[in-house]
Amino acid sequence: MSNSPLVSYTKISPNRNSPRKQPIRKITLHHMAGNLSLEAFGALVAKPSRQMSANYAIDTDGNIGLFCPEADRSWCSSSPENDHQAITVEIANDGGAPDWHVSDAALEAAIRLCVDVCQRNGLPGLTWTGDSTGTLTCHYMFAATACPGPYLKGKMAWIAEEVNRRLAEVKPEDKPSSAPALQKLCVVNATNEIIAKAKDLGLPVELRTAALIGPASSGDAMTIWGMSQAAGAPYFASYTEG
Ligand SMILES: [Zn+2]
Repeated sequence: MSNSPLVSYTKISPNRNSPRKQPIRKITLHHMAGNLSLEAFGALVAKPSRQMSANYAIDTDGNIGLFCPEADRSWCSSSPENDHQAITVEIANDGGAPDWHVSDAALEAAIRLCVDVCQRNGLPGLTWTGDSTGTLTCHYMFAATACPGPYLKGKMAWIAEEVNRRLAEVKPEDKPSSAPALQKLCVVNATNEIIAKAKDLGLPVELRTAALIGPASSGDAMTIWGMSQAAGAPYFASYTEG
C-alpha cells in the first residue's frame, strides 16, 4: 500500500493501529476546528496523550501532510469500523464558529487528494449519501460532533461529484485508439435490486454464483458499485477491451 505523492510534510503519529484490518474503501473528511499549520498538527498528533491522528491533514494554503501511513488505521472518526476502511483527512479552517469556513486552496487540495487515493487504491469514485453507507463519510455520522462544520458539510455532495468527474476524465495520452474502455463487473451475492438495475441500464447480466455485469461505462459501474457497497456485496471490476 502506497502513500500520496502529493504530501510535502511527513510526521508519523504513534496514535494508530498497524496494519489496518480492512482494505481502503472510504474517505472521511474532517475539519480541524482551528487553523493549524502541518507542523502544529504534527506536534499535536505526536502526543500519545491526545489519542488521535489522521492519515492526512491539509493546511489553509492547500499543503498536504502525512501523519499515519495508508497501510495503518488512524484514530480519527470515533469509529474503528469506519477508520479501518477509511483514509481520514483533517482540513484546516480559515474561519471560526459557527460556519467553520475552509479556504478554496484547502478544498482543491482535498479534491486532488481524494482523486489520488481513489486512483492508487482502485476505488472507482466516491458516493455521498449523507450517512455512513456512502463511501465519503464524516465524523458526525459516528459521534455527537459538529465535525466537519456547516461549510464543509455543505460541500460534500459537490466534492464527491468533482472527484468522480476528474476520475472519469480520460487524459489524452491514455485515450485508447478505438472505443473507451468498458468494465466487466463481478458482484458476489448481488441482490435482486442490483440485477434489476443492471438490466434497466441495458447491461448484459450473466448469473453464475456471482453476477457478472457489463461491459459497463464508468458511470454505470459507479451506480452498481454504490449499490453493492450499500448492500455489503463484495465487488470486483476488471477492464476489458472496447
Ligand atoms: Zn472530526
